[in-house]
Amino acid sequence: MLGGPIRRCRRVCPVIFFFVSLFIVVLWRRSQIAQHDHEENQEKHIFSNNQEEYVDKRGVHVVVGRYIGNPVNKIPNATYDMINTNNFKPEPNAGKDGLPVVIEPKDLLKMQQLFQINRFNLLASDKIPLNRTLPDVRKKKCRTMYTNYQNYPKSSVIIVFHNEAWSTLFRTVWSVIIRSPKEILEEIILVDDASEREFLKEPLNEYIKTLPVSVKIFRNHKRIGLVAARLLGARKAQGSILVFLDAHCECTTGWLESLVGTIVENPKTIACPVIDIINDDTFSYVKSFELHWGAFNWNLQFRWFTLGGTELKKRSKDNTKPFMTPAMAGGLFAMDRKYFFDLGAYDDGMKVWGGENLELSFRAWQCGGRIEIVPCSHVGHLFRKSSPYTFPGGIGETLYSNLARVALVWMDEWGDFYFKFNEAARKIKDKTDVSNRVQIRKKLHCKNFEWYLNKIWPQHFFPMKDRFFGRIRNVGENQCLIKPLGKETSNQPMGIAKLNECLKEDMVVEMFVMTQDGFIMTDDSVCLDAPEKEVNGVSKVRIMACSGFTRQKWKYNKKTQELIHATNNLCMDISPSKKYTDGLVITECTGTKTQKWKLEEVPWH
Ligand code: UDP
Ligand code: MN
Repeated sequence: MLGGPIRRCRRVCPVIFFFVSLFIVVLWRRSQIAQHDHEENQEKHIFSNNQEEYVDKRGVHVVVGRYIGNPVNKIPNATYDMINTNNFKPEPNAGKDGLPVVIEPKDLLKMQQLFQINRFNLLASDKIPLNRTLPDVRKKKCRTMYTNYQNYPKSSVIIVFHNEAWSTLFRTVWSVIIRSPKEILEEIILVDDASEREFLKEPLNEYIKTLPVSVKIFRNHKRIGLVAARLLGARKAQGSILVFLDAHCECTTGWLESLVGTIVENPKTIACPVIDIINDDTFSYVKSFELHWGAFNWNLQFRWFTLGGTELKKRSKDNTKPFMTPAMAGGLFAMDRKYFFDLGAYDDGMKVWGGENLELSFRAWQCGGRIEIVPCSHVGHLFRKSSPYTFPGGIGETLYSNLARVALVWMDEWGDFYFKFNEAARKIKDKTDVSNRVQIRKKLHCKNFEWYLNKIWPQHFFPMKDRFFGRIRNVGENQCLIKPLGKETSNQPMGIAKLNECLKEDMVVEMFVMTQDGFIMTDDSVCLDAPEKEVNGVSKVRIMACSGFTRQKWKYNKKTQELIHATNNLCMDISPSKKYTDGLVITECTGTKTQKWKLEEVPWH
């Protein structure tokens, strides 16, 4: 009875099956390609080798320092042997002078497989000699500075690692050995945070005995995270200066003298090198812009900003002089050992990774210290797009619990602001016990966060008592101003200011700050901006990096509800085309309803 349909299926079904499979494969490939293109576009913006592109013209730098991607628990297709074998096989000229390594086409598959292990091109790294040459990237004048280093105190360089590759770890070590004056290098301290790789065990113990400087290893058999690991290293250190490095760095000529020299000037200074980029694909050494400083956004994500606009003008002609930064990236810095402990070392309640850089930054500034970036000190760091290791307890839990600690101890009302707009951290807040850290804040008579924002980071874009914070609603359209989402591209270098439906809940995209000086700013240091001079009657209003220039100044007339551009007294209005995509403009003030704006306060703490 079933003979008929079955026979028919024998002929037809395989054909159908074939086409359905083909269709699925094509769809899948497409999504893969789209995903890849998307990532490429993002990365180009972030990690371009081209200096011009890298120094973002908006002045705002997203990423670089501390980027968190998707960590993996498993390394796909990697065998035990693949992970546990040390394949370091140097070729004398590979990566010479910091140049990129070229992988032969026949090795591309292998390269891709190996990439997964550490999330960087391990095959390339394994070809580069541990003592490869690097260009001296400093400003010429630096060569004549810090020359009396013989009198400086000695440094202990502390490198913590978890499952680092052999070649990157020991290229870090060798770059310290060959580019630090012997007279001021006390020792190198390695702290193993429960690595599982076989080659990091006994072979490492044997290898460090052969090195020309004192290299010590301390091991944790349970994962303790980078804060606890660095603390352990600091406690073991004999030198009077502590220098912390990630396990995938390369130091260049003059890096140590200039850091220590800065601390000698003022022992309460945390000295940070300029962080150059070791490309995760090619291992080329890319010099980074020297005038970057660090801060953070409303979400407490670390951000680089460019000394630009009015600040650059203020900066003295001497661009080799260390300059202050409100926050540090965290992986690479030097500090007086005694001061490190006097200041409260690290918050040992912090787990795995993240937040410790802001904690130390706030503590330093608020409790009488300072943080400086030293332009004469250049250290390369291998930036990668995602984390290769596991986060016991979950990546979100870990990071938000660390940041909750920062907010609770140091940020006062701005801590409440952080919790208000960050649900994940808010949920952890009540479970978090920071009493021992609050004790330190009291003991050291530290200043409050308001002082920090006003004095250390006056350009900040956080709400304040004397500023407006909330929604900006257009009366005519009954719609609200929003922060443009998405990334800046070369075709659209800046966001056009637009309106959107006013949301019932308080969402970051609709929150703006208006300062006493008339800057209308929002998260990540972006400001409402319009051309200085009138262009043919209408000019578009854009959302651009805050520059401090008057083209970003506005006046709000409470009576007429007009938002008036400071340089040409035009009124902010919706586009005459009324098209949403055309955004806002400044135009002749006529008193029309679409030129009326309500500044609706939103409580932020
Ligand atoms: N690290 C560690 N234990 C951890 C996480 C990280 O010892 O649980 C080390 C890691 O090997 C590296 C340093 O801490 O030397 C900083 O971590 P990572 O480089 O991943 O941070 P990023 O540079 O991406 O911010
Ligand atoms: Mn790192």
